[in-house]
Amino acid sequence: MTTVKKPIKILYVEDNEMNRLLVRRLLEPRGYQLFEANDGISGVKLAEEIEPDLILMDINLPLLDGHAATTRIKSIDRLAGIPIIALTSNVMEGDRQRSLVAGCDGYIKKPLDVDEFPGQVEGYLRGNREKVEEDDEQVFYKEYSAKLVLKLQKHIEELEEKNQKIEQQSKEMREA
Ligand code: MN
Repeated sequence: MTTVKKPIKILYVEDNEMNRLLVRRLLEPRGYQLFEANDGISGVKLAEEIEPDLILMDINLPLLDGHAATTRIKSIDRLAGIPIIALTSNVMEGDRQRSLVAGCDGYIKKPLDVDEFPGQVEGYLRGNREKVEEDDEQVFYKEYSAKLVLKLQKHIEELEEKNQKIEQQSKEMREA
């Protein structure tokens, strides 16, 4: 009896349509089954739904950025083993480390090198993993959690402001 090999599922979380098109064009002909999400929240949800073999993660994303989406996915037990590769044009000093401390297993720079890219993906599927250098780890972890808390604070402030507006409006309506 022959067993039909299941296609390898790759989830690409990316808000730029041209990038999604390019990656699809590079990977689909090689037999990978491609899934796409265009923001961080739907990326997490789709990952839970399809349990892909590998996730390519843009970093600058609406709703939940790629770092937060990665941290969230890695915190879900049955998804924790899925390699997540940051695909980003953030190429400033430290951006590689920032992605790795957020939970990414690798880092590919945009614009993609179309000749190298399929081989890079294959390497990660075969088990290539990157690690943040021990000396950097503490510093970047601290920076990351501070950034998350700051975001949370801003978010709560925004909600609070909206709430007050709504209360003010309904007060005015009652008094009218
Ligand atoms: Mn983006």
